[in-house]
Amino acid sequence: MKKLVIGNLKMNILSPDERDRYLAWLKKELAGKKNNDSEIILCPPFVHMEAFKKWNNKKIHLGAQNMFSETKGSYTGEISPVMLKNLGCEYVILGHSERRRYFGESNGSINLKIASALKNGLKPILCVGETREEKENERTLGVITNQVKEALLGVKRAKAEQIILAYEPVWAIGGEKVPTANEIMEAKLLIRKILVDLFGKKYADLVPIIYGGNVNIKTVAGVCVDSGMDGVLIGRESLQPHEFVKIADIINNSCKF
Ligand code: PEP
Repeated sequence: MKKLVIGNLKMNILSPDERDRYLAWLKKELAGKKNNDSEIILCPPFVHMEAFKKWNNKKIHLGAQNMFSETKGSYTGEISPVMLKNLGCEYVILGHSERRRYFGESNGSINLKIASALKNGLKPILCVGETREEKENERTLGVITNQVKEALLGVKRAKAEQIILAYEPVWAIGGEKVPTANEIMEAKLLIRKILVDLFGKKYADLVPIIYGGNVNIKTVAGVCVDSGMDGVLIGRESLQPHEFVKIADIINNSCKF
């Protein structure tokens, strides 16, 4: 299994000029790099998806930051999985804590999106994780259990290998702290156990479990390498191509299977 380095550009890069500067900078940083043991996935805002695709850098795969569960019709402002697929997008982040918090997404609505993504040939990157309050109340494991079970309800085991699970403690996202390697390993073990219950061991083992939340060049060894994760989901640092590519390099060079 290749390690995954996923960049979530969120609602940034505000103009075509800024996008072109970003892509030119990224191209410079990627020049001459080998990432044989990892896969880099970038999730730009929808409006830049086509330009990222036309940029056509073979080292980069494309993901979306969200989608709707329906494929077509009167759903003003929504984006269809088929639209994404037709633009060359392969992945879609679903259940990000910012979607849950600001847009009221529930495990139920995320479940519909997961089913639709899989049906329409997109690989869902399902985000789960506890808030600070839930952590303080020792509810971390219960919260993760519900999020994974409810979001994956009804998914067939044959589809398991299309799914990526991202453990993203909400309190670490955009913050200064990260969990200890032990805390991350505990979350990973729990997620793996739930996946085994849902799909059986053979299929559960095909699901990469990655970490997200304040990943940078200083934290990446602890949150990915030491804790045996299958990759990272990166917010802020993906906006800085030199930092993003350095993180990808660290993961590519040090994560051995
Ligand atoms: C995120 O929002 O998914 C994320 C990981 O953000 P950051 O890297 O900025 O903490």
